[in-house]
Amino acid sequence: MTLPHLFDSHLHTPLCGHATGQPREYAQAALEYGLAGICFTDHSPMPAWYDAPWRMKRAQLGEYVQVVQDVQQEFAGRLDVRLGLEADFHPGTEGYVREVLAEYPWDYVIGSVHYLGAWGFDNPEFKGEYDQRDLTDLYREYYALVEGAARSELFDSIGHLDLPKKFGHADPDGMAALHALDVIAAHGLALDFNTAGWRKPINEAYPAPDLVRAAASRGIPFVLGSDAHAPAEVGYHFADAVKEIHDVGGVVVRFEGRERVG
Ligand code: ZN
Ligand code: FE
Ligand code: FE
Ligand code: ZN
Repeated sequence: MTLPHLFDSHLHTPLCGHATGQPREYAQAALEYGLAGICFTDHSPMPAWYDAPWRMKRAQLGEYVQVVQDVQQEFAGRLDVRLGLEADFHPGTEGYVREVLAEYPWDYVIGSVHYLGAWGFDNPEFKGEYDQRDLTDLYREYYALVEGAARSELFDSIGHLDLPKKFGHADPDGMAALHALDVIAAHGLALDFNTAGWRKPINEAYPAPDLVRAAASRGIPFVLGSDAHAPAEVGYHFADAVKEIHDVGGVVVRFEGRERVG
């Protein structure tokens, strides 16, 4: 398959401690898949107390930038390689995130919510906690954080919008999601169209088809991302993603220097 104009803008590297394959292998996979470019968005450093085993340390940030720039040079003229981050939105850490974002010339920054309080709700180890929760309340709490991420003005897009569905716990209501989309639209953010959901128990991309439609109708653009944690996942299901977005009149964009392209 050749997808000559497409970028994969959600890729990890082994620096986060839970991805395999060297960054140059992700680039090689993208080239072979027929993509125009990629943007690495590895898990950003956070304060030491927050989710430490699942991300690079602050002291590794320079190494990350260097590694991406090395791949950029190696693939120059063949594949456009961009420098990004998947940052976390967690109340109280905004100042830290702002500092990290000021340190290097990022192309694209995803804002993701991975925690409700101290619960890492996308970690398979802790999925038993879903049985303790009312799902409507859970999604209300989650989307309030997503709205905080949108209002923070720290990020270019919201990562994997309806992530709590990952293990099969779909949103029974949907009202909180629609309200969050209003806030996302008002603040001019894009959505990470994240195909990793097609590799998870829910077997559905993030966001769900009805939310893709609702986002498109609000003029919210989509950035394609495989959320690859291994080279073989680069460009995962991108043809399906593009079809789904275009079928509802949505727009695919990417980011360079934190500016929307396309
Ligand atoms: Zn990860
Ligand atoms: Fe994430
Ligand atoms: Fe990710
Ligand atoms: Zn992710």
